[in-house]
Amino acid sequence: MPIATINPATGETVKTFTPATDEEVDAAIARAYARFQDYRHNTTFAQRAGWANATADLLEKEADETAALMTLEMGKTLASAKAEVLKCAKGFRFYADNAERLLADEPADAAKVGATKAYTRYQPLGVVLAVMPWNFPLWQAVRFAAPALMAGNVGILKHASNVPQCALYLADVIARGGFPEGCFQTLLVASSAVETILRDPRVAAATLTGSEPAGQSVAAIAGDEIKPTVLELGGSDPFIVMPSANLDEAVKTAVTARTQNNGQSCIAAKRFIAHADIYERFVDKFVEAVAALKVGDPTDPDTDVGPLATESGRDEVAKQVEDAAAAGAVIRCGGQRLDRPGWYYPPTVVTDITKDMALYSEEVFGPVASVYRAGDIDEAIEIANATTFGLGSNAWTNDEAEQQRFIDDIEAGQVFINGMTVSHPELPFGGVKRSGYGRELAGLGIREFCNAKTVWIGSADTGSSAGGKKVE
Ligand code: NAP
Repeated sequence: MPIATINPATGETVKTFTPATDEEVDAAIARAYARFQDYRHNTTFAQRAGWANATADLLEKEADETAALMTLEMGKTLASAKAEVLKCAKGFRFYADNAERLLADEPADAAKVGATKAYTRYQPLGVVLAVMPWNFPLWQAVRFAAPALMAGNVGILKHASNVPQCALYLADVIARGGFPEGCFQTLLVASSAVETILRDPRVAAATLTGSEPAGQSVAAIAGDEIKPTVLELGGSDPFIVMPSANLDEAVKTAVTARTQNNGQSCIAAKRFIAHADIYERFVDKFVEAVAALKVGDPTDPDTDVGPLATESGRDEVAKQVEDAAAAGAVIRCGGQRLDRPGWYYPPTVVTDITKDMALYSEEVFGPVASVYRAGDIDEAIEIANATTFGLGSNAWTNDEAEQQRFIDDIEAGQVFINGMTVSHPELPFGGVKRSGYGRELAGLGIREFCNAKTVWIGSADTGSSAGGKKVE
């Protein structure tokens, strides 16, 4: 894959980049490693918070230009790009305000373990490699960078090859925010360089957001090297609508949940499961709303859905829908490639999907909604869990008992009731099953790349552990 800015709205190659040489990669790792030794010991939370807040100020000030860059490189609408930049500022501010509290020593019951004092101390691990996807070119990287830097780690970003300018901007804005040189570097390299970087003994850990094959590869290398990883992989989130739900609100949210970011979000609702009592009404309203979306130039403020980010991504979505239609699925709206330059695909609703269709089991990374009918709550949960993924989930019901069933029984890292899955700096984010492991954001996220060090201090009088008594 070339490292290049290619405008998905036109297919035009705007700018190409030469990958870093092996020597440049080595120099970047050396710089990061050297910086870590100093940064972890000689900077305070207050200093880091100052730099994080200054980075947030710059992000806010430069939001319009940065949004335009994101739209140019991966086709999201300008409005959603700007919202993403502002969310990144919020992410930096959250960790500026909370990192010290989230990483404070955690006292244990000293008497119970025969100590005068016992606690857990969180210390940074070192150089962390971040392999990131293009779909939220800034936010995906910031939700790693902000907590990592506040914890005292340093980062090396290998971003997706189609968003090189966003990748360079992020390292630049973090440096201008005041973080010392080497704290956060972007390396423009192909994915084949990831193995060398990850095997380097100066690199302590890795985080990857992306597809299952990429996650498997990084996890295998990290396993071989015994290095911790966080994996945020794909999703095929369910969006369940029960009879007691506010149907109009559910439909409105369902449309956003499926088509936000031109349908290319890991936590987009992808499978809509409507209870039989409201199935027909849900489908009618949903199809009407989806068909009314305006597809077009992502820089036009009236556009709801822009192009997909890559030609291969558009072709894959088209094939999944075409194969399902050929096997008997019903296309309620959309479903045909658009005859225009750029990698557009129309918002599409598909029903009557059967288990043998790829649409049933694969993640669809584009604005295509699959709708299923469930006879009762048990069947709704069964369909929701009939996926190898387990990232987010959404359930609409005003019945409290049903809400508890969904909270208890849906196999996912997140359950949103009467809403849609959204990442917030304040809430942990991550998945189960083949959606990955580990958590980003909130307290869990900042501790992922920390050594949770157990500290046990005995009394000067008794000397050895537990006063010399053997304990298990
Ligand atoms: P991708 O191909 O896996 O790319 C993601 C990143 O991994 C890119 O930087 C890519 O570099 C790199 N990469 C690809 N293959 C690799 C390998 N074998 N070894 C090491 N690095 C490798 O993912 P994508 O298809 O562009 O992105 C969409 C996927 O990401 C979807 O499945 C989506 O659900 C998932 N995603 C998950 C989350 C989450 O939080 N769970 C968030 C967003 C997206 P190159 O660009 O150079 O190939």
